[in-house]
Order: sequence, then C-alpha cells, then structure tokens
Amino acid sequence: MNAKIPLENIDTSDADVVQQIDIEEFDLYEKREKIYTRNIRGFFQRVRILTGWPLLMAYFGLPWVNWGGRQSVLFDAPNDQFHIFGLTLWPEDFVLLAAILIIAAFALLAVTTWLGRVWCGYTCPQTVWTSIFMWAEQITEGSRNARIRLDHSPWSINKVLRKTAKHSLWLGVSLVTALTFVGYFSPMRELIPSLFSFSLSGWETFWILFFVVATYGNAGWLREQVCKYMCPYARFQAVMFDSDTLIVSYDAERGESRGARKKELDHKAAGLGDCIDCQVCVQVCPVGIDIRDGLQYECINCALCIDACDEVMDKMAYPKGLIRYTTENRLQHKQEHRVLRPKLIGYTAVLTAMVVVFCLILFNRDLVDVDISRDRGALYYQTADGLIENGYRLKLLNMAADTQHYQIALSGLEGAVLLGNTSLTAPPGHQAEILMRVQIEPNKLLAAQVPIEFVIASEDQTIRVFEETRFMGPLQ
Ligand code: SF4
Ligand code: SF4
Repeated sequence: MNAKIPLENIDTSDADVVQQIDIEEFDLYEKREKIYTRNIRGFFQRVRILTGWPLLMAYFGLPWVNWGGRQSVLFDAPNDQFHIFGLTLWPEDFVLLAAILIIAAFALLAVTTWLGRVWCGYTCPQTVWTSIFMWAEQITEGSRNARIRLDHSPWSINKVLRKTAKHSLWLGVSLVTALTFVGYFSPMRELIPSLFSFSLSGWETFWILFFVVATYGNAGWLREQVCKYMCPYARFQAVMFDSDTLIVSYDAERGESRGARKKELDHKAAGLGDCIDCQVCVQVCPVGIDIRDGLQYECINCALCIDACDEVMDKMAYPKGLIRYTTENRLQHKQEHRVLRPKLIGYTAVLTAMVVVFCLILFNRDLVDVDISRDRGALYYQTADGLIENGYRLKLLNMAADTQHYQIALSGLEGAVLLGNTSLTAPPGHQAEILMRVQIEPNKLLAAQVPIEFVIASEDQTIRVFEETRFMGPLQ
C-alpha cells in the first residue's frame, strides 16, 4: 500500500509561523558528572582486598623473581623468546600462545555465565587500579564530602597542596606500574639501573611514558568511562548471562515503597518497605548508578552497594541482604539457583578438553625444530670410486632453554654412510645449518628412490627428533 504524506510549504518569512515551529536542540552525548565515591568497609570489600593483594604482589613481584638463572616471566621480543617459569616458547610456538588466549577467553565466558561480572568487580586491572587511585584520593583529599567541598572551594594553598599530593601519588603509582609492565619485556634488573643512569633505550622510554599516561588517565581521570564506553567486554557480557547467572540486585519486593523513617517506627504497618532511601548504595558505587533502578550494563558487580546497604540494614536492625548477590530466577521465585545447567556443563567440558589438549601439546612438543632439504643441484652424484651420493642441508633451531649438543644419525638405508658433520652444538635460540652427504654402493640401493630418516638426538637423549626425506639413485 502506498501511503501519501501531505506536504505543506511554510513561509519562513512569517514570524508567527516560525514561532509555531518548536525546535528542540539537544546534545547527543551525555554530560559526564564527576563521581565522588564514599569509602565503605564490609565483607565483599574484604574479599576484594584478599583477591586483589595476591594479584598485585604477583604483578609487581614476578619480574624480580628469578627461575632457572633468568627472570621468571620475560617476553624477550628482541631474541624471539618467551620465558615463563623455566618454559621457553619460540615464534614456532605461536600457536600455543594463541591457544592460551583462546582458553582464557573461553574461561572468561564460562565464569561470566556462572558468576556474572566477577572479573570486572574483583580482578580487572581497571577496577583494581581505580581502587588504588581512589585510596590515594581518600588519604590526600579526605572523605567524599571533604572532596566535594574541596572541588567547589576557591583555589587556596591547602587545595593546591592536597591536589599536588594526590596527583604526585597517582603519577608515582603510574610510574611503578609502567616500569613493571615494561620489565616483563626488558629484563627488570637491567631496566631499573638504566632508568637511574638515564640510559634507557628509545623503545623502553616510549613504552614507559605510554603506560604512565595510560594508567594515570584510565585510573585517575576516565575511571567508569572506560567500563561504560571503551571496554568491549562490558558490551557483550549480557549475551553470556542467563536467568541463573549471579547478579547484584536490589530486592524491590522487600525494599519498596522506600522512604525515610524513624528507626523505632513499625515501617511495615506504615506501608513502607525496608529501603530507607538513604542513597548510600548510590554514593559508594564506582560507576555512579542506582542499583534500585534494576540490572544495568554499567554495573561491574563489585558488591560495594551490598556492603553499604548491609551496614544500613544493621543500623536499622533489619535483616541484611536488601541488595545482594542473587539470580533473576530467585528474584522471581521461579526456582532454586541452578549451578549445574546444560550451558555451563557444556562450557566446562569444552574448557577442560581445551586445557588437557593444550597441556599434552605443551609437554610433548619437540624442543628442536629441524628442517632437512635435499641438494637441489642434482638428483644424485656418482663419486670417482663409483658410489651413489646425495647431498642434504640440515637447519636446526634449538628451542630448549640451554645449549644442546646434538648427534645426527641415519636410518632406513642399509649400507649407507653419513658423511660431514654428524655432531652439532647450538646455544638456546640458535639456528645452526650444516651440509651432509650420504653415500652407498650402487648394488645396495634397491630402488631409484628410498625413504630415509635422519635421527637428531641430544647428548642426554631427552630430545630425539626423526626427520624423513628421500635418497635418490639411478633408475634400476
Ligand atoms: S543503601 Fe539500602 S536502604 Fe539505603 S537507599 Fe540503598 S537500598 Fe535503600
Ligand atoms: S551497582 Fe553496586 S555492584 Fe554495581 S557497580 Fe555499583 S556498587 Fe558495584
């Protein structure tokens, strides 16, 4: 069906007509309002500290820990080596690094389905570093109310000193964070002396400055904006949620209707719910939302509002848990919380299989990469004393963590002799190349083309690689 929209010419020179046109202008971008979070203590805050400290200690401490004579975790890009607790990975092992990332992404998927945004609330570097910066803010500028007053007060010596102290602390934390990060790529015990002797390389200087700015900007200034607008995970995590996923939620059934009251009032008789509308849950929220408005994508499941509300409930002598970890199904009284559900069992099974396969590949991979190519000049040679000879070029990359001495032997061709270098020494990461010749008497060669095998073995026989190729002779 064709619909016709009647058009009418408007005379814009007529002031009366123009006045009737209601033009509304609005900004497409929401204006950011600074969030002043209130400090809160409680059970979940303690859990955050208990999970955060070991992670922070691991992050800042690992580059200083040596393992097997070298830095325990070192991504040595210039030498194409990645050292992780005695395990050395090479560019040839890139597939393993890719597998680690895929497994990590899949684990995040499974954990999100089960525990919601627990990663965001407890372990995400953005959350952890923002908490550190908020702590710096608290000790330099004071409580929430003091900070609001300070920001609205005119500039004074007190304000300058407090702001300087805060930004100095922020920059100090950013510098240590940046140095540590670069220390995973450039040996830490050389990086720090280079810093103090002003002999850092151009790249080291660039990346240190980059991470200082990134940390200072993200944790100091952008904060919840990173979660709201920059983090892709925040956007697609809702896809992983189901009705049994753990979420932080306000129990509207119990809390409404909200309102202020005296502690001693029988609020139920007065038609009030348990929410006293104190706004403390909003004031502690690092992303500045009101959980009472329902599940929102900005919520990082940090549970600070749970601690805040529980404290209020304690003061009012009401049961805790007006805001709590729950599931959509529980809130709707549909069924008991189901941890074991088909989707999660499937994720766990796939994840377990991926980890098992990964470990099998990792611990059974060859620590030497060998490539043998035949001499391209001729199919075979006939020596002066009548022997048939083939030439081979052997390229070998030592992927073990130590220098290796290899012995090279030949199998698969009865009566053949291997000539040239049959032993080889290669330091870790070293690629060696040698030329070899194989000779045989013509009457011992039973076909024009015979499969043969080079056996490359380390001195202690822990590394043993078989490389197949062909021996060519005249047509029989
Ligand atoms: S902290 Fe609890 S009581 Fe206070 S406004 Fe939030 S939900 Fe209501
Ligand atoms: S609503 Fe609660 S759980 Fe969600 S981000 Fe805010 S304080 Fe954290």
